[in-house]
Amino acid sequence: MSEKMRAIWKRRPGRGIEVGEADIPIIKDDEVLIKVKKRAICGTDLHIYQWNEWSQNRIKPPVIIGHEFYGEIVEIGKNVKEFKVGELVTAEMHVVCNHCYLCRTGKAHLCENVVILGVDANGAFADYVAVPALNLWRVKKDIPEEYFAIYDPFGNAVHTVFEGDMPTKTVLITGAGPIGAMAAGIAKAAGASLVIVSEPNEYRRDLAKKMGADVVVNPFEENLVEIVMELTDGEGVDNVLEMSGVAPALLEGLKAIKKGGILVLLGIFNKDVTVDFNELIIFKGIKIKGVNGRKMYDTWYRMDGLLRSGKIDLSPIITHRFPMEEIEKGLLLMEEGKAGKVILT
Ligand code: NAD
Ligand code: ZN
Repeated sequence: MSEKMRAIWKRRPGRGIEVGEADIPIIKDDEVLIKVKKRAICGTDLHIYQWNEWSQNRIKPPVIIGHEFYGEIVEIGKNVKEFKVGELVTAEMHVVCNHCYLCRTGKAHLCENVVILGVDANGAFADYVAVPALNLWRVKKDIPEEYFAIYDPFGNAVHTVFEGDMPTKTVLITGAGPIGAMAAGIAKAAGASLVIVSEPNEYRRDLAKKMGADVVVNPFEENLVEIVMELTDGEGVDNVLEMSGVAPALLEGLKAIKKGGILVLLGIFNKDVTVDFNELIIFKGIKIKGVNGRKMYDTWYRMDGLLRSGKIDLSPIITHRFPMEEIEKGLLLMEEGKAGKVILT
């Protein structure tokens, strides 16, 4: 009989999740077993809970969810030489093939054969999780330990910001979910002269402000494009970081961007978007970049570097902490837009 642990399952299609039990994973030779200390709820976990269209197409229940976490190594596979039992680690949960064209040309974050732990295979909302040693990232003693539970979304934000052109330049971030709010702080840390954030939800505008946004705008009540033009001598912003996944936000962003500016897209749209390419992109000479995941492992080094620079403080973004069994409380707060990052202990 294998030993049991607590685990959060998506067991069947439809709204909901289940707090239950699972076998403690048995590791392969190139994996480690991690005793999870803290986890964080991602928007993706909420989508799996709600069973939205994306989850219906992607998730194959039963699966243990969760991909944001850190913990302590309690067992190592026999081929693992770089890590020791007792070390604290987090992990890149996109497990890549290392063989496809993208993996072999420095773009593993775009791997053709990616398996995401906590989405496609069992994840970290459990007492233990098995992860390939190649995916581990050490917890650093000079960085607050809890931050490593949110390295995954922090990495999405860091990746997106650094696809733009920040030092001395102006930025509009559309959408201040946890990732957009973190991006505001990262853009400031990266030297942006002005960070404007548009977000309809007041709680989240407040979070963006706490993270370092210079100006926050409610796009439902104020004229975002006019405000941007006033603040940028009528020229528009150098960068737009789209972090809402909502069509009107993208269109406003395209209107607010300066000619020759950069549009970086992270938000995932739930349906096709109609854009006037001629007026908003071609004649304006806009550069567009899509962002997927975190660069392996350039983004991860930048995350450590930013936090060590002392130029960014992630503490405002962690708004709630619950025991793992109370995950549903966190999911419901997120659903109402009344939470930043929710930590599960
Ligand atoms: P989130 O859903 O918490 O945040 C989106 C925010 O956009 C919300 O606060 C919402 O109020 C706001 N919004 C809605 N309408 C708006 C409008 N008209 N103008 C401005 N803001 C508006 O999401 P998150 O967890 O912060 O993630 C941000 C986005 O990035 C999501 O779309 C998510 O799916 C996506 N994402 C992409 C990747 C990737 O690899 N590309 C990874 C993680 C997340
Ligand atoms: Zn690959």
